[in-house]
Amino acid sequence: GGSRRALNDGKRIMVCARKRPMSSAELRTNATDCMTVDCERNTLKISASRTRLDGLTKYAEDFDFSFDRVFDADASNSKVYRQVVRPLVEFALKGGKSTCFAYGQTGSGKTHTMFHPKDGLCNAAIKEILEASGSDGCYISFFEIYQSQLYDLLRERKKVVPCERSDGQVKIMGLGEDHVSTAEESLQLIQRGLATRVTGKTGANAQSSRSHAILQFSLKPSSDCGRLTFIDLAGSERGADRAEVDYRTKLEGSEINKSLLALKECIRAMDMASSHFPFRQSKLTLVLKNSIIGNVRTAMIATVSPTLQSCEHTLNTLRYADRFR
Ligand code: ADP
Ligand code: MG
Repeated sequence: GGSRRALNDGKRIMVCARKRPMSSAELRTNATDCMTVDCERNTLKISASRTRLDGLTKYAEDFDFSFDRVFDADASNSKVYRQVVRPLVEFALKGGKSTCFAYGQTGSGKTHTMFHPKDGLCNAAIKEILEASGSDGCYISFFEIYQSQLYDLLRERKKVVPCERSDGQVKIMGLGEDHVSTAEESLQLIQRGLATRVTGKTGANAQSSRSHAILQFSLKPSSDCGRLTFIDLAGSERGADRAEVDYRTKLEGSEINKSLLALKECIRAMDMASSHFPFRQSKLTLVLKNSIIGNVRTAMIATVSPTLQSCEHTLNTLRYADRFR
């Protein structure tokens, strides 16, 4: 309704979409780029009203979306950082809690956006945090949620357990916190956590597409004041309602659906200044409770592939992101 944004400054949640460039394989196979971005109006059009080459899907229409920011395929990570993440860093430096999500189909650019070793959002953020915090440095935690279990990515994937205390604070028992004072140290830690993430039992990227990775920078140890959290969410194709081939994949899918639904409901409740936050409905929202409720800042970056082949997943991703607004 009309009062929806009146209760806050309207900037607590920023929802963005980012188109990734065509890959060399896509260019080689003459894949169709079906996405047009208008950076002035922050809109995005998916020209889907044609039959897919395999004839399986037909759309009678094109689809238009508008977001707070839309980034075209040639936008750099640094540009995304300046427009989306720097305000979150500034808010955290003033003692606030801010969170940045990346959501999209596997292969759409979540990891590139968040963790690129040169200019990924996390690396740019920790650089600026360390410049501002001086000799105090910063504390880093990095964990993963897979099938409702938490694993510490900086402690050989040790299982850790979230616990809601009587004062309402959620703590993760046993989660490591590493103090860093240089950008190089931080980068090394993050890369180590990422390497731990993809070498799980089931191996390779399969695992990382089914888990949520959560990286936290805290200005003080064991404190959620002055905290910035980055979340590389499970691949959006997992959240799509579709028949899954095997039982385990089905379980993973429903688990991910549950957490993404709970996340959406919590974020919407926050934006509408509602008092009902269903954060206990999933481990993801439980561990994020202190970062998504209250005086907080949030950004959601929906990453999307440009091709017509990916169009169904792209639509699912953008529709999900759209409901954060
Ligand atoms: P995801 O984490 O969503 O599965 P990745 O970040 O691994 O996807 O991206 C898939 C591939 O596309 C990688 O090779 C990555 O380097 C490339 N890529 C993604 N986004 C961009 C971008 N904005 N610019 C250039 N390359 C990109
Ligand atoms: Mg990834």
